[in-house]
Amino acid sequence: MRIVLLGAPGSGKGTQAALLKDHFEIPHISTGDLLRQAVADATPLGMKAKAIMDRGELVPDDVMLNLIEERLSSADVKPGFILDGYPRNLAQAEALEALLGKLGQPIEEAVMIEVSEDRVVERIAKRAAEEGRSDDTEDVVRNRMRVYEEQTAPVAGFYEDQGLLTRVLGEGSIEEVSARIRGALNTDGSD
Ligand code: ADP
Repeated sequence: MRIVLLGAPGSGKGTQAALLKDHFEIPHISTGDLLRQAVADATPLGMKAKAIMDRGELVPDDVMLNLIEERLSSADVKPGFILDGYPRNLAQAEALEALLGKLGQPIEEAVMIEVSEDRVVERIAKRAAEEGRSDDTEDVVRNRMRVYEEQTAPVAGFYEDQGLLTRVLGEGSIEEVSARIRGALNTDGSD
C-alpha cells in the first residue's frame, strides 16, 4: 500500500500516519521529521534547511527530491509506505510521480485530512506549549498556513484528477479519525 497523506499544518497528519504505520506495518516517511533530524545532526542539509523551516517556507524542491529519492530507495519501503509532508507543491507531486513511475510503484491512495482553521490554530498552540518546535510560533504558523493554501492545497486536485483522492473529516477523537481513514482505504473489515 503506497499512500500520500495530505492536510494543513496541525491537521493531525503526523499522528494519523503513525497509526497507519502500525496498522499496515509499512514505514511512515515524514519529510518534516527527516529534516528535523538533519537539523539535529547538523548535517549540510540540516544547516541549509533550518533557517528556511524557521521562516515556515519550503525547502527547495531539488533538495527535497534528493532526500525523498534516497529514502524511497531503501529496502524497507518495498511493501509500501505512508508519505507525510511530501509532496507539498505541484512540482513535487510531478517529480514524485516520475520517480515512482520509474520504480514501477505508483501512489495508490491519497487521503486529505480536513479540519477547520480554528481547530488547526488550537492544535498548533497546544503543540507549541508541549513540544517547543521552533516553527510553531504565531507568525511562522501563519506563514506555514499561507504556504499551505497557496502551494500544498492544489496537490489535492492533482490526485483528485487521477481518481486517487479521498477526503476525510479530521475532527473528533484520534481513534475516530483513524477509523475514518482506514475506512477510506477500504481495509477496515477486521477491526
Ligand atoms: P507541518 O505539516 O506541521 O507544517 P512538517 O513537519 O510537515 O510540519 O514540516 C515542517 C517544515 O519542514 C515545513 O514548514 C517546511 O519548511 C519543511 N518541509 C517539510 N516537508 C517539506 C517538503 N516536502 N518540501 C519543502 N519543505 C518541506
